[in-house]
Amino acid sequence: MSDFNFETAAVRTQLERTEFLEHSVPLYLTSSFVFEDAEDMRASFAEEKERNLYSRFSNPNTTEFVEKIAKMEGAEAGYAFATGMGAVFSTLAALLSAGDHIVSARSVFGSTHALFTKFLPKWNIETTYFKVEDADTIESLIQPNTKILYAETPTNPGIDILDLEHLGKIAKKHNLILVIDNCFATPYLQTPIAFGADIVVHSATKLIDGQGRVLGGVAVGRADLIREIYLFSRNTGPAMSPFNAWVLSKSLETLAVRVDRHCESALKVAEFLEAHEQVNWVKYPFLKSHPQYEIAKKQMKKGGSIIAFEIKGGVAAGRNFLNKIKMCSLSANLGDSRSIVTHPASTTHSKLSVEDRLEVSITDGLVRLSVGLESVEDIIADLNQALS
Ligand SMILES: *Cc1c(COP(=O)(O)O)cnc(C)c1O
Repeated sequence: MSDFNFETAAVRTQLERTEFLEHSVPLYLTSSFVFEDAEDMRASFAEEKERNLYSRFSNPNTTEFVEKIAKMEGAEAGYAFATGMGAVFSTLAALLSAGDHIVSARSVFGSTHALFTKFLPKWNIETTYFKVEDADTIESLIQPNTKILYAETPTNPGIDILDLEHLGKIAKKHNLILVIDNCFATPYLQTPIAFGADIVVHSATKLIDGQGRVLGGVAVGRADLIREIYLFSRNTGPAMSPFNAWVLSKSLETLAVRVDRHCESALKVAEFLEAHEQVNWVKYPFLKSHPQYEIAKKQMKKGGSIIAFEIKGGVAAGRNFLNKIKMCSLSANLGDSRSIVTHPASTTHSKLSVEDRLEVSITDGLVRLSVGLESVEDIIADLNQALS
């Protein structure tokens, strides 16, 4: 099994067939599992055998989903969560103690930023941020109590790239746990563990589902750390539901073909936007003009599905563009088969000051575009009519 290539592992990693010899993996909607006798029950609770007890701990469907993701990421183990934020929070809460310190890139998902600045400080866990372009200063931010180095790449919504090899080296040298949010790249385009990450977290809600149906999250990585995350989570209750795991495991079977098409179309759309007179600049990892193009090429197989670009004319022009869009959806999701546009300055990041927005590469005219699986001609036609 472990020798299979990526696409094969995505399709052929599955549970053993039941007595019915079903081809597709069945859905196990059961909250608990039964025991043969008192001794079986004792041994199971003592963890002397590996088996399902209760679906907050594990369930055949979540196990199948986690095994697939772990193989794709090159990880030893994993645990699946109800949402991406469940994975991020539980990872941090399980691995950190009061008084510990995090060093993180400033460009992180909005709710992750809220964890770092509003909630973790309640337990005396502080975070020091570095700007993406100042990644060479990370070592100067490390304190004796620093335990985790955290980053996401490409970043949301700025599409900045962090050098995973560089982060891996620093984490190793200073004995830090490197946690990477790999949501935008997916394991098909980028495997952070190969560069030294200890834990990889995902919002499975995005490209892993890819069809805007279910929420989900997962953390995979070093077995000893996953064990801590598992023990924390099986007691605190953020587990993924069997139904969502069943949907997401099916989604993984098509991840490679979907992401290939997303990337192919996104590059064409990025090139179209870069040539458009109403657009100031475009940020897409595999455009030569991207400031971290060389790093993107080194660590990513393709450029991904998300593009950031700036429309001339600031906030008003950004809002006007959204109003003129006909086919693409105005929605907060991304990585969906349907193309989605958002204008962070007037929506998700409207409460930040202009200066704070610029810290995370959000200018007033910035539009985030998640390129879907529609015909690329239709996507470009919609953008073109909305820009003119
Ligand atoms: C959406 C997202 C999350 C949070 O995932 P949910 O499934 O919405 O909880 C975390 N990180 C990144 C980069 C995201 O885009």
